[in-house]
Amino acid sequence: MRQAAGIVGERRHRAPVVVLSAMAKTTDRLLECARVAAGSHFEEASRLLQEIRKDHLATAADCIKAFTVSPEAREIERHFTDLQRLLQTLRLPGKRSPRSLDAIASYGERLSTLIFTGLLKQEGIAAQLMDSRELIRTGSEFTRATPDLSATETRLRGAIPPVCRAGRIPVLQGFIGSDDRGVTTTLGRNGSDFSAAIVGALLDVEEIQIWTDVPGILTADPTLVPQARKIKTISFSEAAELAYFGAKVLHPSTLLPAVKKNIPVYVLNSRDPGGSGTRITAQCQSSRNPIKSIAYKEGLVMINVSSTRMLMAHGFLRRLFEIFERHERPVDMVATSEVSVSLTLDSAENLDAIVEDLSQIGEVQVARNKAIICLVGENLKFTPGIAARAFSAIDTVNIQMISQGASIINLGFVIDEDRISEAVNRLHDHFFSDPDPEIFE
Ligand code: ASP
Ligand code: MG
Repeated sequence: MRQAAGIVGERRHRAPVVVLSAMAKTTDRLLECARVAAGSHFEEASRLLQEIRKDHLATAADCIKAFTVSPEAREIERHFTDLQRLLQTLRLPGKRSPRSLDAIASYGERLSTLIFTGLLKQEGIAAQLMDSRELIRTGSEFTRATPDLSATETRLRGAIPPVCRAGRIPVLQGFIGSDDRGVTTTLGRNGSDFSAAIVGALLDVEEIQIWTDVPGILTADPTLVPQARKIKTISFSEAAELAYFGAKVLHPSTLLPAVKKNIPVYVLNSRDPGGSGTRITAQCQSSRNPIKSIAYKEGLVMINVSSTRMLMAHGFLRRLFEIFERHERPVDMVATSEVSVSLTLDSAENLDAIVEDLSQIGEVQVARNKAIICLVGENLKFTPGIAARAFSAIDTVNIQMISQGASIINLGFVIDEDRISEAVNRLHDHFFSDPDPEIFE
C-alpha cells in the first residue's frame, strides 16, 4: 500500500487516475468463503471471513492514523457486515449464482481502494474514492462481464475530469462494474488491468501504466529460464499474443482498448519503481533477434478426429466446430490434413460429452497433458527458416502439431507437458544467445 502510494505521489503532477486491484489473495479468499458457505458450512465460512476482516483492519490501521475512530474504520466494518449477510443468503440454493459471487468478490477492490484513498490523504495527497459500479457499465454475464464502452465513456467523462481539475486523484476499483440494472458485475479474474486500460483509453490519457510485481514482460517464464531477459519494447500484437499464451503479466483483453486509441501501455514493477519496465506500442521496433519471447500454455487436451469418408465432404468442419460451440468450449489451435483434424482445448471440461458427439462424425483420439509452446515476434515473418531452427533446437522433443497463422507473428506447436522446461530452455538458448541490447535488458 505504501509503495503504491509512493508511486502515485511521485506522479501526481501528471494528474493520474488510479485503478486499484484487491489486496493480495483477497479475491481468492472471498470466493473460498462463498464456496464454503454455499456448501452449508456456514461457521467455517464466517471464520474465514473474520480472517479477511482482521487482515484488512491490520493493514488499514498501519496506513491510517487514529484508525479506530476514522470514517474508514466504520466503512470497513460496514462492508464486512454486508459480506456476512451475503454469505448467509448463500444458504438458499436459489442464491448460489454467479451473480452472488460477483457481489462477494467486489468487496476485495472496494476494501483496498477505501484503505488506499485513506492512505493517500494521510500522506497529504488529495484523493477521491470513486465507485466503479457507477462508472463501468457492463453486460450481465456475471463473473466475466463485457464492458459497454460507449455507456462507460459517457459516465467516465462526466465523473473523472472534474475530480482531476479540482486537484484530486480519483481512485477507482479495478475488476468491478455494474449492469444496466445496477447489479454488481466483474470483468473476470485478474481483470483490474483490463479496467485500467478501459479507463485510460476512454479518457484519452497519455499512457497507461500497469504496475505489477514483475520487472516487465520477459523473454520466457523466469521460473523455467533463470536467464530470461526483460523486453524493453514490444508491439501491441506481440504482447497480446503473449498474454493469450500464458505470459501471466497481462490479462488477454487488456490491450484492446489501448490499441484502438493507440495509447502506449507500460508494464512496470512496483517493487522497483525506478525501473523502465516494458513499453508496449503500436510500432514494432526492429530487432536482430527473430523472436521477442517464448510463451507456453499447459494442461491442454489434444483431440484428433479422423474420417476417410467425411473429411473432404463439404460441411464437415462446420459440423465438427458446431460440437465445440454447443459445449461452449473454445478451441486454441487447429491443424488439418486430408483425413484428419487435430485441435487443442485448454481444459478437459465437458470432455466426455464432446468426445461422444465427435464420435458421431469420425474416429476420435484424445491425448491429455499436452502443452503449446509459442514463439512470438513480428520478425518471424521476415526471417526464413525459423521453424527449421526451432525444431532442430529441440530435436529430442516430439512435436505433435504445428500451427503458424496468417499473421505470422507466432509459431506454435504442441508437445508433451513434461517436456516444457527442456523445450523452452533449449529454444531460449538458441534464440537469445545474443540478445539485441536495443530491445532486451
Ligand atoms: N482482484 C481480482 C482478481 O484477483 C482482479 C485482479 O486482481 O486483477 O482476480
Ligand atoms: Mg490480482
